[in-house]
Amino acid sequence: MNILYVEDEAKIASFVCAGLKEQGFVVDYCDNGDEGYLRAMDNQYDVLVLDIMLPGKDGLAILKSLRRSGRNVPVILLTARNELDDRLEGLNLGADDYLAKPFFVEELIARIHAVIRRVSGERQNILSLGPLKLDRITRQVTCNQQSVELTTREFNLLEYLMRSPGRVLTRTQILEHVWGYDFNPSTNLVDVCIQRIRKKLERMDGGSCIESVRGVGYCFRKPEV
Ligand code: CA
Repeated sequence: MNILYVEDEAKIASFVCAGLKEQGFVVDYCDNGDEGYLRAMDNQYDVLVLDIMLPGKDGLAILKSLRRSGRNVPVILLTARNELDDRLEGLNLGADDYLAKPFFVEELIARIHAVIRRVSGERQNILSLGPLKLDRITRQVTCNQQSVELTTREFNLLEYLMRSPGRVLTRTQILEHVWGYDFNPSTNLVDVCIQRIRKKLERMDGGSCIESVRGVGYCFRKPEV
């Protein structure tokens, strides 16, 4: 597990770094917000632990910029000022947890484990392919970080395609799976629904995600890696 830890108080930092390393975490540490922000943008961490009051960009500003650029890495905020406003602002900005100073390293470690568990549980429910992200629990879809409003039917169809990227699904398979009742095989329900989804995705530059396979059906284009 890779952790980025940004903290300007050397004494606290050395304690926390030692405690985290003892637990087997790989800790990248830095003592100012500007550097911390750059490292968070350039590297893949499992969790960020950010002090709020920092020289340079403060913890809340780092969090805000990261979320704006679509980074959803889990963030735990540390605050010396035990102020409700900061915590609320942090949670509104998308922090996953916060911890008020002073704290025991064990407590921070427990929070890190909890956040990682929660996120990996959520990840299994999230299909993420190319510009598209589909959450099977909240039923939210985003394309290039913009939210896409889909009807239940459209959502179910998109989910069905996204579950097997690169696999061609016939109109009949799609009808059975998404509509699930006796249908007239000559119906154009599937095509109409696909057109609607494409139109919505096109507005966010995701129109080419669904491929038509002539005479057969449709396929979710496998993103190039
Ligand atoms: Ca500080």
